[in-house]
Amino acid sequence: MATFAKTNFISIIVKALKIAWTSPNSCLGLLGGVVLLALGGKAKLVGGALEFSAGRGIGIFSKLPNGPIAAITIGHVILGMTDELLQRVRAHEHVHVRQYERWGPLFIPAYLGWSLVLLIQGRDPYRENPFEIEAYREAP
Ligand SMILES: [Zn+2]
Repeated sequence: MATFAKTNFISIIVKALKIAWTSPNSCLGLLGGVVLLALGGKAKLVGGALEFSAGRGIGIFSKLPNGPIAAITIGHVILGMTDELLQRVRAHEHVHVRQYERWGPLFIPAYLGWSLVLLIQGRDPYRENPFEIEAYREAP
């Protein structure tokens, strides 16, 4: 019993540290979430991540210069076109949540840095990005 309580306490501390380490990214994601809420979107907490659907802001996702995206993860926040698409890509986006928990404030510079290097090499900055390779391997 004491071992269970100690293990549970440690896991709570570790989770709190991951949330704190990821919080600069999550704050950025929350700004996006507030915009989506203002456009009629919805929010819900799923598996430790706050998910926002776009509402009337769906055009933000469908009219991007490099093509439409179903969702994007920023820290513990996942922004997506619709509830249905969020459900469909949830496993993939939660791999990114775990990557943010490992990399913290370094995740966005590391992700974009890899993409830039790949782009300079004439390769696919999305599909060949190691963060995406891991996410597609764990959740195709
Ligand atoms: Zn991804």
